[in-house]
Amino acid sequence: MQINDKSENIAYQASKERYDSMTYNRSGNSGILLPALSLGLWHNFGFVDNIQNARSVLRTAFDLGITHLDLANNYGPPYGSAEENFGKILKADFSAHRDELFIATKAGYDMWPGPYGNWGSKKYLVASLDQSLKRMGLDYVDIFYHHRPDPETPLEETMHALADIVKQGKALYVGISNYKAEETQKAAKILKQLNVPFILHQARYSMFDRWVEKDLLGTLKNNGVGCIAFSPLAQGMLTDKYLNGIPSSSRAAKSLTHLTIETVNNNIEKIKLLNEIAQNRNQKLSQMAIAWILRRQEVTSVLIGSSSPEQLKENVKALDNLKFTDEELNLVNRIL
Ligand code: NDP
Repeated sequence: MQINDKSENIAYQASKERYDSMTYNRSGNSGILLPALSLGLWHNFGFVDNIQNARSVLRTAFDLGITHLDLANNYGPPYGSAEENFGKILKADFSAHRDELFIATKAGYDMWPGPYGNWGSKKYLVASLDQSLKRMGLDYVDIFYHHRPDPETPLEETMHALADIVKQGKALYVGISNYKAEETQKAAKILKQLNVPFILHQARYSMFDRWVEKDLLGTLKNNGVGCIAFSPLAQGMLTDKYLNGIPSSSRAAKSLTHLTIETVNNNIEKIKLLNEIAQNRNQKLSQMAIAWILRRQEVTSVLIGSSSPEQLKENVKALDNLKFTDEELNLVNRIL
């Protein structure tokens, strides 16, 4: 973004109604309330994307009461560019609102070459967070996650790194992501011993991927830790986007991730059946998919992605109808 580009530099005035309709849920046993819907910057915020669109999405999110924004060192592409773009937009539009935002970043996946740019060593996590803070122009993040478990590094080392990061004031809270229930239990025990505020687990959870229901959600509840559900729309499959084919601008058509045209085609019959249930509830499929996740008390927030302000506006309307009848839940179960 050319911040000094006068044609685009229309001053942002946050909506005065921004806190009127969002629901805020407590994350586990912590003091933190998170919006029922949070926004992730994995896609649509990199140097490959249109930054004015990214800026509109962020302004819309904030105006809708979405105070929690989720980043990671490697979001882009290229790696780091989502944080850099976010930093520019934050400075231009949200500097007066920093204390109204709960900003997350993570490290755990491949980031820079060599043995210290990946996984879970203290060396990697500390250096990565320092880089992230510089890219975003922040003194601290609200939460720093270990992005995935590292089978080779002792869990104690990774958890001590998180503890030191909090002690240094570079993150207020910590979280983990993609850890299975048993690994989560071990991490929670260590973090408790270290007196570290472990408040969130970020896990993939959608109608198409229900692994967390088996024992992760129970483990989180027992430990007083919240769950934030990522890819709740199965990267767009649980919307009406693919009902009549594959739009050329869609994530599946761009093949940027594991979401392929083949995956969409394999699921299309289920998507159509789920869409009928949503229509009978007077909801969009995206709204039903989000409401369905929020039916679980263990879930603090649903972490959506959005390639346009319109998608965000549609998705927050999920909050207008969160109730499911037993019959609807049974129907959904049968389809899945
Ligand atoms: P979603 O399942 O919400 O998919 C978002 C995509 O779905 C959008 O980019 C858009 O795709 C499409 N979409 C959203 N709303 C609508 C709508 N109303 N109508 C039609 N299409 C819609 O989530 P993501 O997979 O993007 O993940 C969300 C966040 O979760 C990420 O940004 C990231 O922060 C986090 N995450 C964390 C991971 C981890 O390992 N911890 C891994 C993955 C994600 P399109 O471009 O086709 O319009």
